[in-house]
Amino acid sequence: MSREHNLRKDKQEFLDTLVRRGIKDQRVLDAMKGVPREAFVGPDQAESAYDDRPLQIEEGQTISQPYIVALMTEAMQLKPNDTVLEIGTGSGYAAAVLSRVVKKVFTVERHQLLANLAQERLAKQGYNNVKVLCGDGTLGWPEHSPFDAIVVTAGAPSVPQALVRQLAIGGRLVIPAGSDRHQQQLLRITRTSEEKTETEKLSDVRFVPLVGEEGWHTGRE
Ligand code: SAH
Repeated sequence: MSREHNLRKDKQEFLDTLVRRGIKDQRVLDAMKGVPREAFVGPDQAESAYDDRPLQIEEGQTISQPYIVALMTEAMQLKPNDTVLEIGTGSGYAAAVLSRVVKKVFTVERHQLLANLAQERLAKQGYNNVKVLCGDGTLGWPEHSPFDAIVVTAGAPSVPQALVRQLAIGGRLVIPAGSDRHQQQLLRITRTSEEKTETEKLSDVRFVPLVGEEGWHTGRE
């Protein structure tokens, strides 16, 4: 069987898995269907692109498990005209999925090499409503705020207040947080007014650490 045939077959199974695990938002499912995950990993990993598990990328980081990408995207309760900020660009895969669900995506990555690679991959695939910045995402991207939603794809020790401040009223922050460096709870924090937020616990998750001023402080990953 050809490699293309295998990837097509794997992708159908992959979509079935997302539905079986509870993803309901049709726009999220369509975006997951549309983005070629194999284009966001190195050639040595392309065969595994539709396995429902995280994969290794450069700089010792990972591209998240597809189910988690879909879960977090759905948890943001996005509308087509929304502007979203992602912290932790990594491979650019989740940014590509987001770019098909909303109008504008801003994404911040602390590793220059990853930011460059993601930018190249996104451009090559024609996702031109995504802007990539290399920097400390725990500080957000104030120039483009307020955001309708913010997603953090690395585990934070606590919720960075800079990100809460950059949410629009009614905006949602989806973030894995917790005092254990390798295990977190996925939270959805809704900014209900200038001063108030509401927090919901969604599930237990495992992410690489968020390293920065309002994140973990040492470079040990
Ligand atoms: N969303 C990514 C998964 C990224 S893994 C994807 O779809 O591939 C988490 C990423 O967060 C890593 O690339 C890591 O370098 C980055 N990261 C960790 N701390 C960060 C910070 N303070 N600011 C920006 N990026 C950060």
